[in-house]
Amino acid sequence: MPVLSLIKFKLLYYIYLMNTSLEALRQYFQTGATQSYAFRLLQLKRLKQLVLENEQALYQALHTDLKKSKEESWATEIGFFLNELNYTIEHLKGWMQPTSVPTNLLNQPSTCYTVQEPLGVVCIIGPWNYPFQLLFTPLVGAIAGGNCVVLKPSEFAPATAAVMGKIIQDLFPANYILYVEGEGAQVLTPMFEQFRFDHIFYTGSTTVGRIIYQQAAAKLTPVTLELGGKSPAVIAVDANMRVAARRIVNSKFSNCGQMCVAPDYVLVPTAFKQVLIDELIKAIEQFYGTDTASSDGYGKIINERQWQRLVGYFADGKIVYGGKSDASSLFIEPTLMTEVSMDSKIMQDEIFGPILPILTYDSNEAALEIIQRNPNPLAFYVFTNDLATEQYWLTNVPSGGACVNNTSWHLTNHALPFGGRGLSGMGGYHGKLSFTTFTHMKSVMKTPTWIDPDLKYPPYKGKGWLLKKLIG
Ligand code: NAD
Repeated sequence: MPVLSLIKFKLLYYIYLMNTSLEALRQYFQTGATQSYAFRLLQLKRLKQLVLENEQALYQALHTDLKKSKEESWATEIGFFLNELNYTIEHLKGWMQPTSVPTNLLNQPSTCYTVQEPLGVVCIIGPWNYPFQLLFTPLVGAIAGGNCVVLKPSEFAPATAAVMGKIIQDLFPANYILYVEGEGAQVLTPMFEQFRFDHIFYTGSTTVGRIIYQQAAAKLTPVTLELGGKSPAVIAVDANMRVAARRIVNSKFSNCGQMCVAPDYVLVPTAFKQVLIDELIKAIEQFYGTDTASSDGYGKIINERQWQRLVGYFADGKIVYGGKSDASSLFIEPTLMTEVSMDSKIMQDEIFGPILPILTYDSNEAALEIIQRNPNPLAFYVFTNDLATEQYWLTNVPSGGACVNNTSWHLTNHALPFGGRGLSGMGGYHGKLSFTTFTHMKSVMKTPTWIDPDLKYPPYKGKGWLLKKLIG
């Protein structure tokens, strides 16, 4: 068979298999099997058990993909997921109950309530930086919501993807949770063209988010987009420099800066620049030692393409600390840079790596002007102990989320919705919002038949005075 025909045949065969699998999910959803509280609770409990049974395999895989230590893998991946899972198990029954709402005078004596209805067949797409947490945490919401799911891990964290695939395939039939691996566009574009998902939940870059949004729009599929961007950290004149430095270093160099809410760059008053740099260096050396290449607690860059992109930023300014790198081990030292031009690549791209530009400012307006070049960051951080300064920054920087005197920990509180706005995304999840995201809030009005006044029926002539009293 000529090569072109073979490719065409393979593609058609893939589309056939894919359609069959997706239709099987639809049919299973339509049986109603996934909708009872007992079913959802059982799946969540089974998932918890199998993840715990695979804890060691997950540690190994996360170390292979990203050189994450066990402790970091627990805190930011497995433990994080279990925390969300346990919270959901605890609250699911309550969330599934209808919520009564008042009935207005016009509709008396009806009763009104809302109920969270499962969406149907949903698709969850994960990135590589927290390959387990960012795929399995939304899965908790999707199962809790009573849906069938297509789960697509990132192809760039293959060891973790293999363990997750085994967990899902050992646990769930493919007509309930379908695990699909491969290159994003190749695997998903034909699905989006052939099949209408009831929701697409995507975590990844803004560039791909835009493509997915367009594909979803063609089928009027609602989306949650958890995207990235440049999250700034502003240091005010009154900030506690030591604490600010420790908290910035903690989030910036965890997972080698490959974190969607890592502080992308720092803005510090000119007079405090050197104090901050000294404190940042102290914190780096206290957390990771002076030889980060051999530190167990310090990770690696995901692949050579990302490594090349990141070392390319070294030419965009002056390295005041760090700057060592090694392609063979995908190592980049925690690096601090100054004298970075606003027109350079490092100030236009999301850095997503262990390089921290330190910019100075002499007025709030000047700092704001820099931040507004990349509006609506996923997270915004301000370090101050002054309430007026805090309010100034929180009201002037619209962002997905924010911390005052902290970085990134806001996403570990179930009570705080997590998500972006504008270019950093739309929609959100975590805690109850995960359940809400994967369900539809249906409004129901129930009206008794023992009373049926003529007022509501035509002809309306002569009833105007009463309608005016009841409506408006
Ligand atoms: P990515 O966009 O390259 O890939 C993410 C997923 O999308 C992968 O599973 C990939 O296979 C799939 N994909 C790629 N191209 C596709 C296409 N054309 N159609 C359908 N699917 C496609 O993102 P990434 O590089 O894996 O992740 C890094 C980005 O994600 C950063 O910008 C980061 O800020 C962002 N991020 C955001 C969050 C958040 O919660 N907001 C969390 C982590 C990462």
